[in-house]
Amino acid sequence: MAVVGFDFGYQSCFIAVARQGGIETIANEYSDRTTPAYVSFMEKNRAMGVSAKNQQMANMKNTIFGWKKMIGRNYTDPITQQEKGLLPFEIVQTENDGIGIKVQYLGETQVFNPEQITAMLFTKLKETAELNLKVKCKDVVISVPTYFTDTQRRALLDAAQLAGLNCLRLMNDTTAAALAYGIYKQDLPDEKEKSRNVIFVDMGHSDTQVSAVAFNKGKLKMLATASDPSLGGRDLDRILALYFAEDFKKRYKIDATQKPRAFARLLNECEKLKKLMSANSTSIPINIECFMEDKDVSGRMERSTLEELAAGQFARFEDVLRAVLDNANLKPADIDAVEVIGGSTRVPAVKETVQKVFEKEYSTTLNADEAVARGCALQCA
Ligand code: ATP
Ligand code: MG
Repeated sequence: MAVVGFDFGYQSCFIAVARQGGIETIANEYSDRTTPAYVSFMEKNRAMGVSAKNQQMANMKNTIFGWKKMIGRNYTDPITQQEKGLLPFEIVQTENDGIGIKVQYLGETQVFNPEQITAMLFTKLKETAELNLKVKCKDVVISVPTYFTDTQRRALLDAAQLAGLNCLRLMNDTTAAALAYGIYKQDLPDEKEKSRNVIFVDMGHSDTQVSAVAFNKGKLKMLATASDPSLGGRDLDRILALYFAEDFKKRYKIDATQKPRAFARLLNECEKLKKLMSANSTSIPINIECFMEDKDVSGRMERSTLEELAAGQFARFEDVLRAVLDNANLKPADIDAVEVIGGSTRVPAVKETVQKVFEKEYSTTLNADEAVARGCALQCA
């Protein structure tokens, strides 16, 4: 029996396993190492991961994603209400102020709570691991945001149990990254020497987490963490989508904010545009055919415009970076290295902010996407 590590992300998940010779990241049936955190319900069956995401546009109301923040919360919790406003499927209040996600499945209306949806996704990750490793996988280590409360952690453990998993440990995202870092660094100072202080910056799709860690050979000490639980790449996608929705309203007389399907398509296109803008500073086109009322729409943007539109988000990002220094009682000069992980650290303004605050070049020793899963797998090695 193998022990595997799951990075359970808001947008996508990774699976890793410790084997003789090192840590491996496991690919799914599409030969993809990332599995989207999507579950889609249909007339005859349900789909998880890639195939669920693929049918989002055709099955909007029954394709569930973005529920991670609602795990272990009540329906009337302000965060739940905020998330509800962003998601295109039906979220209802259940007994004892619980959260119900209402879908059409197997020909009837069914209501699942976020833990049950999580369990379905975990079942998929378990299957992926088993298919790949050709052994049963029951024991897992699962990543969790540093700011998750005890109730949320318990809910996540319940989800693992529902999926037939035995969760040996929930590991904080940034702790996992630190473990993945420590294991490969051969040149860490001896135990008696001054430790090496490393900052880990993880900006994902929905949140930002930063930690300060002191390393010596065979030893890792978490000095401090700081986070912004609601600052991530999805905010940039939304800012772009709202900008173009306004632009299209003027130029094409259509309002994408009023049509969930159109807005979801716009968000997807804006995410692609955002990624292209990370690599190019020139103006980049966005084109969507048959967007609304049979109209084809197009627009353009360059990176500097995104930076202006999202100036508030980048300022909040800077606040988190400064908070970790404060919390750890460290100055930029005390920091030996800064490691960036998480998809959104590919945004140039994010990297520039990291360099500005810590007054040094950032490093990318770790695989930005896989580090968390690898750290989780390491814990069980
Ligand atoms: P979370 O950590 O919030 O639970 P996650 O782990 O699923 O979410 P990641 O996979 O780390 O998130 O990052 C996904 C985010 O990174 C998305 O917003 C995606 O658009 C963004 N991203 C990925 N590549 C790039 C790029 N080249 N430029 C800009 N953003 C990118
Ligand atoms: Mg993540």
